[in-house]
Amino acid sequence: MPQTLQTSVRDLFQVGPIQTKRLAKLGISTLNDLLYHFPFRYEDFSVVKNIAEISMNEPACLRGTLTSIGARQTRSRKSIIEALLTDDTGSIKLVWFNQPYLLKNLSSGDEIVVCGTPQFNHFGPHIASPEYEKASDNLVHTGRIVPIYPSTERLSSKWLRSVIKRQLSLTRLIKDYFPAELKKSYNLMDLGKSIQEIHFPRTQQTLARARYRLGFDELFFVLLAAKRRRAAYQKQKAYAFPFDKKIAQQFVHSLAFTLTNAQKKGAWEILQDMEKSQPMNRLLEGDVGSGKTVVATMGIISCLHHKKKALFMAPTEILACQHEKSISNMLSKIFHDSRHIALFSHSYATVNGKKISKELLKQKIKHNKIDLVIGTHAILYNIKHMRDLGLVIVDEQHRFGVNQRKELQNREFQQSASCIPHFLSMTATPIPRTLALTLYGDLDISIIDEMPTNRKSIQTRIVPPKKRDDAYKFIKKQITIGRQAFVICPLIDESDTLGVKSVTVEHKKLHSDIFPDLVVEKLHGKMKSSEKQRIITAFSKGLIDILVSTSVVEVGIDIPNATIMMIEGAERFGLAQLHQFRGRVGRGVHQSFCLLFSDGYAPETRARLKAVEQSTNGFELAQKDLELRGPGDLYGSRQSGVQNFKIACLTDQTLIARAESATNNIAHYDINKWPLLAKKIETFERDVHFE
Ligand code: ADP
Ligand code: MG
Repeated sequence: MPQTLQTSVRDLFQVGPIQTKRLAKLGISTLNDLLYHFPFRYEDFSVVKNIAEISMNEPACLRGTLTSIGARQTRSRKSIIEALLTDDTGSIKLVWFNQPYLLKNLSSGDEIVVCGTPQFNHFGPHIASPEYEKASDNLVHTGRIVPIYPSTERLSSKWLRSVIKRQLSLTRLIKDYFPAELKKSYNLMDLGKSIQEIHFPRTQQTLARARYRLGFDELFFVLLAAKRRRAAYQKQKAYAFPFDKKIAQQFVHSLAFTLTNAQKKGAWEILQDMEKSQPMNRLLEGDVGSGKTVVATMGIISCLHHKKKALFMAPTEILACQHEKSISNMLSKIFHDSRHIALFSHSYATVNGKKISKELLKQKIKHNKIDLVIGTHAILYNIKHMRDLGLVIVDEQHRFGVNQRKELQNREFQQSASCIPHFLSMTATPIPRTLALTLYGDLDISIIDEMPTNRKSIQTRIVPPKKRDDAYKFIKKQITIGRQAFVICPLIDESDTLGVKSVTVEHKKLHSDIFPDLVVEKLHGKMKSSEKQRIITAFSKGLIDILVSTSVVEVGIDIPNATIMMIEGAERFGLAQLHQFRGRVGRGVHQSFCLLFSDGYAPETRARLKAVEQSTNGFELAQKDLELRGPGDLYGSRQSGVQNFKIACLTDQTLIARAESATNNIAHYDINKWPLLAKKIETFERDVHFE
């Protein structure tokens, strides 16, 4: 049977049951999968040198005749093969260790090509364990730009290289799904050809073009999918809430502070979206403390003013409670408590601050008696329908898990209406612009890039281990003058990972040894919700001096009297995350400090922490994180398909812009004009959806 792209790798010569299993672990079962298994780097051995031209310690590729080859054993009974390679200009010794079978492949008189790094030691000048193959016009491992595959699952790079090389002609079967016009306008290499080139490039130039094409494709489908989701979303109907200038002004005047320009702009964008009968789908991005809640509240006011209901979801109970208090407070100035505001979470059910049973609250919501529900994801599982729902707000949306986000997307709880709610998500994770475009291309984005002017800048210091005692003295002094401190640890309990600080151990140490006369408490995710709430309340009342915590404090807690943020094992956190911790302090009138402790002092670690020391701009830090560590799953990249990128770099603005422009071009046409492309889009969207 002739091979196709769907042929199983099992049917290949050289691939037995064991290799089939190992390939399966890499996600490779068909020849198509095999061809899409790309090298992660290359060795450029395309220039074949004369032996006379080589220099010690410089990698070289040589072609010559084996003038002698033989094996001997060392005293420790290891086998050594020594050979002499000769060309018209000279000779060099080749040495292989523990590979006695080489004598079966190579014999004196063979013409071979070798690659390796010449060196000088007790063997004299020689090349140790060079890559080699018999000379031919079709070199695979030498004499070319050689692809290097990650050697995982016990499949060597060399083995993969031979197997892939043998199947390379199958790339002729790869049909390019892009229309010729598009390829021409964006100067794209043919798809099959670029797969060929990505494995066995002819030149650095053709390799660059292949990478460009394949990276372009990765971005193109992610961006296009976002565009299509957006178009589908906009076909739906939402309640239109005409902007009421009087109410808005009344609200702004009721605040104890003046809105920043960035807040005004954000609010204006939201209110304008909500005027339309198309649903808003907007992301409000702003550093911790930039004042997103009040902006969101303006949306809630507009919705409630027009007699519709709103839903506000927070990632933790602590935050839900805090929001319920501050939003109720803000709304009371406009609606004079004539509205019903509920708090709904695992441990709470209240209406206008009064406790009621969950069942009763559910009944009230069902009978349309509640205007605003604030709560955690418990809402998703308990409240399936909410009539007249005009607005859904999700705070710190990236903190919601995959299933919760899917649930949100399905929005089961609103299907009773012919209108779907306007949707606003908020995040304090600064998302670099290029990433936002790729990940959230279906959203409109408002950015609050300005802090309220009453904020003091926070002094950040990396503290070397020998200065630890000084740091404790400093903390003591701050507490003596009435302030409070956070201590963040990467883990809850002691673990096998030696030296990583845990909340349990640090709490004990600080409580018993370092600060016996201070009130030191701990906080982490495994504690009961009521206990967590008790601790937070006590801390915000100033009854606790030092709070030792895991990253649970990362989001939103507002404690103006806390001025010290001490972070243990700082190297274990992302830069944007460190920046978020830092945002927990500096919220009041006092000068605040962020102290970074790190066990590893590798130069990269230092450079990363230095960036936090030097920059107070969350976007800048996020950009750096992206460059240093890739997107990770911090931004929910798994659901977008970005996680599967092999080539495209999320910091490559030019490539992103070109792919983006191509999706715009395509969007003008009926995609069914190009059946191959339509099919590819369909598979892409299905695969990402099921991930
Ligand atoms: P975040 O964007 O992190 O959610 P919040 O909405 O919790 O920030 O706001 C943080 C604090 O700043 C709150 O106490 C809020 O009342 C206050 N705040 C918001 N906007 C302003 C402003 N323009 N000027 C002064 N304080 C403000
Ligand atoms: Mg917030």
